[in-house]
Amino acid sequence: MSTFQDLNLNTPLFNALDDLGFTQPTPIQEQAFNVVASGKDVVGIAQTGTGKTFAYMLPILKNLKFSKQDNPRILVLVPTRELVVQVVEEIEKLAKYINVRVLGVYGGVNINTQKMAVAQGLDIIVATPGRLYDLAVSRVLQLKSIQKVVIDEVDVMLDLGFRHQLMNIFDILPERRQNIMFSATMTQDVDELITDFFIAPERVSIAVSGTPLENISQSKYRVPNFYTKLNLLKHLLNDTETFNKVLIFVANKKMADRLFEALDETFHDELCVIHSNKTQNYRLRSIEQFREGFNRILVATDVMARGLDIDNVSHVINFDTPDFPENYMHRIGRTGRAEREGQALIFSTEKEQEALSNIETLMQMEIPLKEIPETVSISTELIEDEREVIKERNNPLRRKKDEEVGPAFHEKKDKNKKENLGGSYKFKIAKKYKKPKTRGDKNYNKRNKKK
Ligand code: AMP
Repeated sequence: MSTFQDLNLNTPLFNALDDLGFTQPTPIQEQAFNVVASGKDVVGIAQTGTGKTFAYMLPILKNLKFSKQDNPRILVLVPTRELVVQVVEEIEKLAKYINVRVLGVYGGVNINTQKMAVAQGLDIIVATPGRLYDLAVSRVLQLKSIQKVVIDEVDVMLDLGFRHQLMNIFDILPERRQNIMFSATMTQDVDELITDFFIAPERVSIAVSGTPLENISQSKYRVPNFYTKLNLLKHLLNDTETFNKVLIFVANKKMADRLFEALDETFHDELCVIHSNKTQNYRLRSIEQFREGFNRILVATDVMARGLDIDNVSHVINFDTPDFPENYMHRIGRTGRAEREGQALIFSTEKEQEALSNIETLMQMEIPLKEIPETVSISTELIEDEREVIKERNNPLRRKKDEEVGPAFHEKKDKNKKENLGGSYKFKIAKKYKKPKTRGDKNYNKRNKKK
């Protein structure tokens, strides 16, 4: 275990940490420090509560020189106003002995007050995407000096539908900048954002343990399609005594709504749902109803269910098979807490077999297979996502539905590693004739005569 002394911090930061009573960096702080300090693009996978705010703020503050200029140099984007407030507070704690100006801005409040605050000059701006963009468009806020952009809780941000706003912001930021991103979960959306906008990012994460808790017993079902999954789920849920507190996971909000509607008829009073299109109040109420046992069944997405702290979950049901094996570990960790026995079930279709085997590889175990009970009817009906799509012709850019997206953090392909030297033909010819073979270079002879 290292201490903050090993991170070679400066005295003001060290003293601030000392005042807070923090002596040891958390694992994500330890891992992220040098990577963030190096200036490379960084993707950090860490949940709230792991010390992730200091993980990016410590190296940033260490390297931030005092400046009199008024335009901010550091931009931190977060999904909610609560988080703006929280991150500003954390930065202020850490910057107690540093002369640094920090401002938090978010939507839903008077923009003019914020414009005046911006005009006072600042070093670090913490913002929700919409308000940041509005301030930038109004030209009160100048982003030309931004050197580092942190996007925190990017999974939540994308889940809330902020992708478009992030694109707009990227467009007006200086091209030469360091991108730092933190996400609690890996999702397809996050993966795509990284591929599109990050340059060879370094990944730091607290390795998700591939060893499931011993008191969680797991089983898998091979199920042909959505409606058969639904029949099987209903069959299991009918056993109210065994399935007395059930958390059901699906990959996205569309699926959450679909499943919720499909179950609502049979389990109306026992059912609740959380995903990002529901209001905060609705989500809090759902969680409370489930926690207190008024509702027996909660349908949730990966992004929204993280950080859920609910005891006595009897079963975690993976209605779909997560693409990222870490998400499976997070999901099943919601049961079997506090030494109690927990059950984790996973439903996989033919298409999901590969994701399933990735999970089994991570755990280094095969999940025991259970047969679908005979009373469960096998449906042949397909939902639109399962039907063969008619392929759009002649569109090479379109990603096919089942096309492998590839690992999130890949090296550039060899052919993309080449530097563009201004056209290979020109170089080949130049080499062959030992002089540029360009028709228009009238000065060529003049230049060479002088030599
Ligand atoms: P975060 O994951 O950034 O939301 O941080 C969670 C909490 O942990 C915050 O209240 C931090 O002040 C606190 N914290 C951050 N770093 C450390 C540390 N090295 N030791 C103890 N607590 C910490």
